[in-house]
Amino acid sequence: MKNNVVILGSTGSIGVNTLEVISIHSKKFNVFALAANSSIEKLSCQCQKFKPKYAHVKKEGDAHNLQSILKKNNINTQVLFGREDLNELVSSSSVDTVVCAISGSAGLESSINAVKSGKRILLANKESLVMCGSLFMELAKKSGASILPVDSEHNALHQCFSHNKKKFIKNVILTASGGPFLNKDIKEFDDITLEQALDHPTWNMGKKISIDSATMMNKGLEIIEAMYLFNLKSSQIDAVIHPQSIIHSMVCYKDGSIISQLSKNDMKSPIAYCLGWPERIKSGIDFIDLTKQPPLTFKEISKELFPCFYLAREVAKEGNSLPTAMNAANEVAVSAFLKKSIKFNDIYRVIAKTLNLHDKSKIMSIEDVLEIDKVSRASAKEILKNI
Ligand code: MG
Repeated sequence: MKNNVVILGSTGSIGVNTLEVISIHSKKFNVFALAANSSIEKLSCQCQKFKPKYAHVKKEGDAHNLQSILKKNNINTQVLFGREDLNELVSSSSVDTVVCAISGSAGLESSINAVKSGKRILLANKESLVMCGSLFMELAKKSGASILPVDSEHNALHQCFSHNKKKFIKNVILTASGGPFLNKDIKEFDDITLEQALDHPTWNMGKKISIDSATMMNKGLEIIEAMYLFNLKSSQIDAVIHPQSIIHSMVCYKDGSIISQLSKNDMKSPIAYCLGWPERIKSGIDFIDLTKQPPLTFKEISKELFPCFYLAREVAKEGNSLPTAMNAANEVAVSAFLKKSIKFNDIYRVIAKTLNLHDKSKIMSIEDVLEIDKVSRASAKEILKNI
């Protein structure tokens, strides 16, 4: 029996890479459904190539358009739309694996439904864990869902953990490329343009995560992600800049050993690991030629250049509702920067001010998470007006 896969966010960079890996293993995996927000043309091409049973888009109008394009091309894929259809799709008993690759908080509800249904989850949506990590992992425990991290650092940690018990771990170290502004003078930070911020030196990614990498908020979110995913204390998670992006993270054991994972910086590698786990399958990428690599270097993350990272570290330590509030403020600020309505440095200001106004509370349910997300977004949007 083939493994039936649903890809949420199929037209984004993780979705496209997942389909590339699946196309190498067409005897093992079947694309059961593809879901995209609104990139109809791209989704239609994917449907023509992979012939999924279902395709899903957000809006009804897009669904009708897509259905008629597919009909003209004699493709039998049924097009669905809206929240309910998406939730039904990920919970369907025919589905084995769900790739959660919708970016940002928009991916939360579908990820949670996939977890509740006990599927194998390939989690690329780190915001789900940042917003409600404890609840998310509790739900997985209850339903028996296995959560496999696609995020390259966490994927590396998962690989480094596999033969050793957690109790022997001293700490973990996430690596960070440092993004496009690693060597920039602090005086020039106020003039950073959107185009410069989107131009990541080592990874080719979506817009939101590219900006998060430029501010290094991404690494802060990843600390919170690792904390929940692997049940670690925030004090056990460090991060270090490694501009070559060859070592994807490391686990330090009590005996002084450090175990790391190395591969080309191509998301097909972690995706193939997650699809194949506990076995290993081909990813379509080659090994690194170690003799042809530049020297591997490491350095500390600058507090002056990357205040977002240090803010996120504090938030990780505080826990409770703070990560949810920070994530909401970050999404609002990044989206304003993408629209060129605020400066690069304002991203930090908006998040810090939102957190200053936030009343810390305990998170007991998904409803609490959604409420904190809503209130924090409103608060961040108010702050934007006066920036
Ligand atoms: Mg990452």
